[in-house]
Amino acid sequence: MALRVALLPGDGIGPEVIAEASRILKRVGDLYGHALTFSTHAIGGDAIDRHGQSLPDDTVRACLEADAVLLGAVGHPRFDDRLPAERPEAGLLALRQTLGGFANLRPALCHAPLADRTPFKADRVHGADILIVRELLGGIYFGEPRGYTSADSAYNTLTYSRAEVERVAHVAFAQARLRRHRVASVDKANVIETSRLWRTVVTEVARAYPDVVLEHVLIDTCAMRLATAPTSFDVILADNLFGDILSDQAASVAGSLGVLPSASIGGRVDLYEPVHGSAPDIAGRGLANPIGAIASAAMLLRLTARLPREAEAIERAIDQALASGARTRDLAGPGEPYLSTREMADVIELALVDLHDRQHTYHAV
Ligand code: NAD
Repeated sequence: MALRVALLPGDGIGPEVIAEASRILKRVGDLYGHALTFSTHAIGGDAIDRHGQSLPDDTVRACLEADAVLLGAVGHPRFDDRLPAERPEAGLLALRQTLGGFANLRPALCHAPLADRTPFKADRVHGADILIVRELLGGIYFGEPRGYTSADSAYNTLTYSRAEVERVAHVAFAQARLRRHRVASVDKANVIETSRLWRTVVTEVARAYPDVVLEHVLIDTCAMRLATAPTSFDVILADNLFGDILSDQAASVAGSLGVLPSASIGGRVDLYEPVHGSAPDIAGRGLANPIGAIASAAMLLRLTARLPREAEAIERAIDQALASGARTRDLAGPGEPYLSTREMADVIELALVDLHDRQHTYHAV
């Protein structure tokens, strides 16, 4: 198949991890016979420096013409004294809204070789495999009216419509069908009206998925259970605010921020990005873990390109690399040797080729 991917490396470690993720994507294309084409565009601080704005029109146009967007990260402390609208992050927020992906998918997986690298006891976190589906374009982050009534008083508005809840709930149930057929829908229905609507609508949507088990979990209980029994979850469905908080908490089962991917789907063009930021403290030194970006590329192949075999090949190559002991600095223990960004991607690429060759040999036999 043919696939046009717009690459937005951005700032800090963004260009380093996107270079490796796009290299892996190209390799998959070569191995499995897909015509993947790439174009690279500016966003964030890099775009402010070169074009005077964090989201240039050319970048928007290129993203809207692409089949998918793969973004690194944006942000740098040298912009910290600017107004929010003039900072690199404004470009990313504007892009997310323009592309319109309302369902933010954040898998948090405990790779077995990393079970001893998390803040949890290894036996508690071993086997944890959670997918957070977060509503991304509604809720309290966007509700109007909002603002200050005085220097001492401020307010926000939390609204959800039936349609907004329905569409993201369908994504969660559809994802559960591809996994372990369980959805935990998070709300605060004992206190908040929008949560009561959320619970009612999710319950109605669930009727279309009789093979998926639905449970409603209060946000506070969910936070506690993520720490005490992370393996008890499959898909977690949450609104914008709860999902934002829970997805960072769930990420702790993974061992490092550097391994976490994400997808924002359901809009005009799907957007894929590692969960981490631009990490200015390690930028330009080959210390970034490229796995979050490479796993985001795998999500792109599964969700946008509908190439599950190729997506799984990347995910298995990551597992294989980690099982072989390959570690970037964030994953290495004190005094342990570690690989550079490029070297980690090299190990993953080798594993990918090895897996492909073995599949090929198997089919030939
Ligand atoms: P961060 O995610 O950039 O870094 C947090 C810590 O994790 C740092 O110690 C960093 O070295 C480490 N880290 C992050 N990614 C890593 C990787 N791939 N490999 C190894 N270590 C990694 O968060 P921050 O320091 O709070 O923010 C830095 C900048 O990034 C800020 O300007 C912030 O606004 C921006 N940011 C952007 C995004 C995004 O583009 N989606 C997300 C979060 C933060």
